[in-house]
Amino acid sequence: MRSMDFPNASIRWKIVGIIFVVLAVSLLLVGAGLLVHTRASFERDITQRLAVLADVIGENSVAALLFSDAKTAAETLAALDNDERIIAGAVYDKDGRLLAQYRRPAAEVAIPPAPPLFSSAPVFSSDRVTLVRPIELRGEPAGVVYLVADTADWTATLQQFLVILVTLFAAVLAVGLLVSIGLQRLVTGPIQDLAALMRRIGRERDPRLRAVKGGNDEIGVLVDGFNDMLDEIAKRRLEAEAAKQELQQRVAELDAEVAERRRAEAELHRSRDHLQDFIENANIGLNWLAPDGTILWANHHELEMLGYGAEEYVGRRAADFHLDRQTVEDLLAGLANDEIVESREARMRHKDGSVRDVLISASVYRENGKFVHARSFTHDITERKCIEDALKRSEARYRTLVAATTSVVFSTDGAGRVIERLPSWEDYTGQRWPRYAGDGWAPMVHRDDRRRLKAAWLRATGEGKMFEAEVRVRHQRSGRHRYCLVRALPQRQPGGPAYEWIGTLMDIDDRKRAEERFRTAVDGAPNAMIMIDDGGHIVLVNRQLEALFGYRREELRGRSVETLVPERARSAHVRHRTDFFKDPRARAMCGGRDIYGRHKNGREIPVEISLSPFRTEEGFLGLASIMDVSERRRAEQELRRYTAELQRSNRELGQFAYVASHDLQEPLRAISGCVQLLQQRYRDKLDARANELIEHTVGGALRMQALINDLLSYSRVSTRARPFEACDLGQPLRQALANLELAIKESGATVTMDPMPVLQVDNTQVTQLFQNLIGNALKFRADRTVHVHVGAQRKSNGYLFSVQDNGIGIEPQHIERIFGVFQRLHNRNKYPGNGIGLAICRKIIERHNGRIWVESVPGKGSTFHFTLAAGNVQNEEPSELYSSQQ
Ligand code: ADP
Repeated sequence: MRSMDFPNASIRWKIVGIIFVVLAVSLLLVGAGLLVHTRASFERDITQRLAVLADVIGENSVAALLFSDAKTAAETLAALDNDERIIAGAVYDKDGRLLAQYRRPAAEVAIPPAPPLFSSAPVFSSDRVTLVRPIELRGEPAGVVYLVADTADWTATLQQFLVILVTLFAAVLAVGLLVSIGLQRLVTGPIQDLAALMRRIGRERDPRLRAVKGGNDEIGVLVDGFNDMLDEIAKRRLEAEAAKQELQQRVAELDAEVAERRRAEAELHRSRDHLQDFIENANIGLNWLAPDGTILWANHHELEMLGYGAEEYVGRRAADFHLDRQTVEDLLAGLANDEIVESREARMRHKDGSVRDVLISASVYRENGKFVHARSFTHDITERKCIEDALKRSEARYRTLVAATTSVVFSTDGAGRVIERLPSWEDYTGQRWPRYAGDGWAPMVHRDDRRRLKAAWLRATGEGKMFEAEVRVRHQRSGRHRYCLVRALPQRQPGGPAYEWIGTLMDIDDRKRAEERFRTAVDGAPNAMIMIDDGGHIVLVNRQLEALFGYRREELRGRSVETLVPERARSAHVRHRTDFFKDPRARAMCGGRDIYGRHKNGREIPVEISLSPFRTEEGFLGLASIMDVSERRRAEQELRRYTAELQRSNRELGQFAYVASHDLQEPLRAISGCVQLLQQRYRDKLDARANELIEHTVGGALRMQALINDLLSYSRVSTRARPFEACDLGQPLRQALANLELAIKESGATVTMDPMPVLQVDNTQVTQLFQNLIGNALKFRADRTVHVHVGAQRKSNGYLFSVQDNGIGIEPQHIERIFGVFQRLHNRNKYPGNGIGLAICRKIIERHNGRIWVESVPGKGSTFHFTLAAGNVQNEEPSELYSSQQ
């Protein structure tokens, strides 16, 4: 606690504290003295009073003791009632028996039955005092008096006294404190002033501050001493200040010096690093050579140039890395003689074995005239050499090319002026140098072409692109102007204007004239003709095209060819034209479709177009010949109409034949039946002539029946046709053979066959087809064993079947006819039949989209061929009308 920190307490509080303590101690001592005195007075007083009382009671009780008269003794004790302080009393005889006792009413006190040990002085307890005294009679103990007094009131009095004393004590202390506080200022004031001054000096550090002297006491002496000390301090401080300033200046100087040194040092480091970096990364090889040619050091570039690490290179002889050691020897010898080597060519070997061409410059570094090392600079010129060589080769090639080309090669300055001789120009034009220098060449260009040439030139220079123009240039040998194509390209630094133009002048006269001839020829062609480039732009049209489409050629040139195509077909046309240029070859343009052109007035013109590629130097052009087919289309439409009409009439005819033969059967059967009946019944009743007539009639009716049946069969090929179904052709073939079993047996024929395929056919009709053909082979046999072979061969788009026999054969002039209806070659008596079988065969085959024909050698045999397509489809359905009639 701060209050307990006496040594550090202010002097003011120290003095107050001391006064306070002195005062308190003094008061304590006075109070204690008073208390002790008061108590002693009281004890003495009460002791005396008790002693007097004891003596009085003793004396008055002697008699009663002698006679053990308790009553008297009690009466004696009753006198104690007068002293209110006594609360009990007793008298004992000399034997210690209690003779009488007295107890103040309401007092709580016990009277011992035997006398306590007596003492000369009374015994004090907290609120009582007890006295025991012997009673003597003539020097002899006669008994004992016992008295008890109450000291409670006295104790209270003493306590009051103590309170008063403490109060007084506190008051005195407080007053003392206040007085001491007031008085201490007399002593501590100057000291505190001194202390405050010191604090102020400490705080403000003002050397002018001084203590004010109050008197000449010890403090006055102290103030004087203090002021002297302050003077001394002020003086010392001034000195110290001066010294400090000097020191600071010195330190600042030293700092500046150190900073300057550091800066210089850093600068030195930096320059050294820069120098080192510069040397190491210089784009030139550097090395130091000892006088004997040992490499002492080499920079990074040199090591990289030769592909070595420093450890492989430094320490070895420079000559080891040269192709020609002598070069290094000479170089060192020269250096030893203080020569300076400049750009000497040498060849060094790279680690990978390749040779590097270098230029070496070297000089000697000496110290005190002593050869320390040679500084050698190695400049790699391999690439430069390569480029130079390439340049030389390229130059040579260019010269060769210029010499070899038939074109005139020229170069001009940026403004198109010729500045050097152009031998090929001289050859072509006959103009001599320097006539064509500058603009001197211009008069050689045809007058009419000069303006176009200039326009092309301005365009090319404006856009900085290739210059190109077709002009006529005077040609020395022919003595006339010939068409030339002039092309030139600008030479320029990136972003700069052209400083030179290099170009060629190519004689295209022959081509131009050929083109003109071609144009004339195209114009003279009977068809409309048009030429387009691969972008679809019209290059050329002829007069006929103008007439056909209603445009003038100036209107069309450069426009898209789709101008001449109806709008709906344009996008498809673009595709076709692109395809054509991808694969340029002559072709018809339509692919089975009708195509139309578009007249200027919007009318569509049916056309037929044939395309052919036309190779030019610029690539392919497309040349189309367009034919107006309006007339042909009209004729075709007419033809289609007639064909449809014919088909309809054929159908009607077929239907008629069917209906006729079907309906004729009935009456014919009746006629035939009647005539046969007539023959049977009246054979004998008629004459021979009549019989003959009847026989003829019967025969005719039967034949007619047979003919009608055949006709019906023929009609039924279409009217009774059934849908095509997948069929193994072996099955109808076997059926046909079964139907012909009897005939085969009769003729003793052998029939062989190839495996048959599965095709979509009308099964019944194919059975009939095989039956007719094999039946004929059996019927038209020669006098030899009959062999029939049925063949089937796979062809690219179907099957080729054949029925081959070794029969009588057919004369060549009949081989077409036999497929007609009722066409026969033989007498019915020799070979029965109606001549309808092959007609039916042809009809069946045609219905199956096939073809039938015969090959035959008369007397040797015949082979009937027919084809069936692989994906055979039905192309003819029986009409409802006739299918319902059957
Ligand atoms: P048909 O057999 O009833 O006479 P076809 O139409 O079958 O009628 O034949 C027509 C004619 O073709 C025959 O009359 C015959 O002269 C000739 N012909 C047909 N097949 C053969 C054959 N395999 N060999 C020789 N001639 C044949």
